[in-house]
Amino acid sequence: MLSKDDLENFGYYEMFQTSSDGQDAYSKWVEEKILTYGDERLVENTLGLVGEAGEVAEKIKKLIRDSSRFNNEEILKELGDVVFYATALANIYGNGLQQVLELNMKKLDDRQKRGKLKGSGDNR
Ligand SMILES: [Mg+2]
Repeated sequence: MLSKDDLENFGYYEMFQTSSDGQDAYSKWVEEKILTYGDERLVENTLGLVGEAGEVAEKIKKLIRDSSRFNNEEILKELGDVVFYATALANIYGNGLQQVLELNMKKLDDRQKRGKLKGSGDNR
């Protein structure tokens, strides 16, 4: 587990701080890497998210099917790709990754308090 000190030593701690406009530095960093615009961007970011999630699934499939081993860093890198595209979409529809994390934590904490973590439906 990385500590705050570890993140500071790598210079990444600032990436997860929110600036006065409410957007975290990581989301701004992602925005600098986006190469497409408009509808093309929406499609590219969405397909990128699904494709990268597929790469995670593929590694897990091979782990189970072939009893193969992989360096944990390989799956972490693929998860990073998923987070990148999720952040790109979060920048389109909101104010970046921090907002997504806060909304998700609020939703799941609420479900947990009401005993609704199990079940189905977006608005349970
Ligand atoms: Mg990848």
